[in-house]
Amino acid sequence: MQVICLDCGMSVDDYMDYCPKCDNELGLQHDGSTVTVDIAHHGERVSEALEKMQKEIDGARKGVAESIRLVVGSGLIRDEVLLVLRDLQFRADIKSFESESGNAGAVLVRLK
Ligand SMILES: [Zn+2]
Repeated sequence: MQVICLDCGMSVDDYMDYCPKCDNELGLQHDGSTVTVDIAHHGERVSEALEKMQKEIDGARKGVAESIRLVVGSGLIRDEVLLVLRDLQFRADIKSFESESGNAGAVLVRLK
């Protein structure tokens, strides 16, 4: 698959870490956007919701969005999501995360 270098606009193979033209680190580039994903409102079990979250985060890290907004609801899924995010942050898979102000049912995850 091809991605576009946001710095110089060159089309680059998505397995490359650096743009061959301008040498920018592709994994750190983002367009400042946020993707919203609802992982807890279709009757998911906790394990299903966590699986969905991991898939969305993996996918989004390859994309150009800066953040992913997870709609987690207020129950057990939310608690488990926060535990997993702490682990991901420790492993530097994500930069940071925080509960959305004024809406505890959503968590904002900074990817880049
Ligand atoms: Zn470039």
